[in-house]
Amino acid sequence: MSGNRWEIAGGNHVVAALPVKPALRAGLACAVMGLVLGTAAKEYITAPKAGAIKPPTEEWVARIESLAPGKPTAVPAKPRKVLVFSLATGFKHTVAPHVKEVAKVLAEKSGAFEVVLNDDIAVFEKGSLAQYDAVLLNNVCPDRERRDVFWDVLKEDDKAAAYEANLLDYVAGGGGLVVIHGAIAFQNNSAAVSEMIGGSFDWHPKFQMVTLDLVDPVHPLVGGFEGKGFVHQDEPYLFKNAYKEKSFRPLLEMDVSKLNAETLEKKAVADGVKYVAWIKPHGDGRVFYCSPSHHPASYETEAMLRFLLDGTQYALGDLRCDDSPMIK
Ligand SMILES: [Zn+2]
Repeated sequence: MSGNRWEIAGGNHVVAALPVKPALRAGLACAVMGLVLGTAAKEYITAPKAGAIKPPTEEWVARIESLAPGKPTAVPAKPRKVLVFSLATGFKHTVAPHVKEVAKVLAEKSGAFEVVLNDDIAVFEKGSLAQYDAVLLNNVCPDRERRDVFWDVLKEDDKAAAYEANLLDYVAGGGGLVVIHGAIAFQNNSAAVSEMIGGSFDWHPKFQMVTLDLVDPVHPLVGGFEGKGFVHQDEPYLFKNAYKEKSFRPLLEMDVSKLNAETLEKKAVADGVKYVAWIKPHGDGRVFYCSPSHHPASYETEAMLRFLLDGTQYALGDLRCDDSPMIK
């Protein structure tokens, strides 16, 4: 492709385009390329460049407000309440405050749900969880020693196990669970939690440009991407344990061939398709996992904001769609 490279422009609306050529000529070139290659050129939405992560400013929140969907994708069956839990006992993601703001904006602007922010571990008491239609785990990263957020706070095996069981029962009983980025590790050594979420965290190479493709461009949960892929700076997350079973409906996959050379040398990355976002039922409840993103810039796109809204509406039970496993 050298000499005839596709360039990706910045901003929200865009896509692959030939550099400095009139639209008509570019269109013809696309058609010819398509004929020659037998495929249509892929289009990508590109997130703004990720710089150093600073706490969310009023301007940042206003930008998110301007890009967020103005109405829910599915009409809520009843008023919905989502608990956003953002406690980290291990690595503290600097993006966590941004994710809180994103959740608040999505709730307020779309009207799809109400958000309650609470980082008190006691929210995992049975009676407390019952108040919520879904729980959103925002970068809930455990200490590396045990990888058990409940134990990190409670320091008691029985109580930690009881809180984990409460959450498992809550989802199996019909609750929703949204897991964002590092939160997949919150009970990383628990087989039951791995099975509920659809995997556990394994490792990630250094952050780099990551190209995501839609697994099924017509699946309702990826409607915000309008058939295009997504390019952004992120940590390419890789998973283990229940992930091997692929007992979920994958939504976004990494184009592994575009990861950097240092990463590609590692066998664990080089083999096969790597999913980074998916949905799955768990008992009578529903789970939405979204690995993107480590950087606030990735949320500064209409596509990613709509994706988070839609995934949350799926977890709430309002956005019904095919969540049967799709092995690839
Ligand atoms: Zn991260």
